[in-house]
Amino acid sequence: MTKLTGKCLCGEISFEADGDVPVMANCHCTACRQSTGSAYATLMFMKQGDVKITGTPKTYQHKSDAGNTMTKHFCGTCGTPLFTQNSAREGMLGLRAGVINEDAEFAPKVNVYTSSKMKATVLDDGIPAFEKMPG
Ligand SMILES: [Zn+2]
Ligand SMILES: [Zn+2]
Repeated sequence: MTKLTGKCLCGEISFEADGDVPVMANCHCTACRQSTGSAYATLMFMKQGDVKITGTPKTYQHKSDAGNTMTKHFCGTCGTPLFTQNSAREGMLGLRAGVINEDAEFAPKVNVYTSSKMKATVLDDGIPAFEKMPG
């Protein structure tokens, strides 16, 4: 895996990540749509220890529909969404793929929560799609 780098719009928060990315997904759930302001969230989950963050993102916590505690990390100055954590994925950090410089490294393997996708979103038939979160 290539080393991943990225930063928020204003540059106050930046990161370097080096390690395996066991989960790459597009999430179409309502919370991801709201927290990113996008049609869906692009996620690369890595071990938290593999991601070195410079600067201090603000955080916001909420409960997922499965009852897990979700923590969103974003820049307090420019508002860019950068990272997300799910209490059900202890020790993992989800990077918002849209902020990485090495964008060719993002190859989503799955679409999740397609039951709440926007009508305009066209899904890639070449990867599995799940109405909710699988398994
Ligand atoms: Zn910023
Ligand atoms: Zn989601």
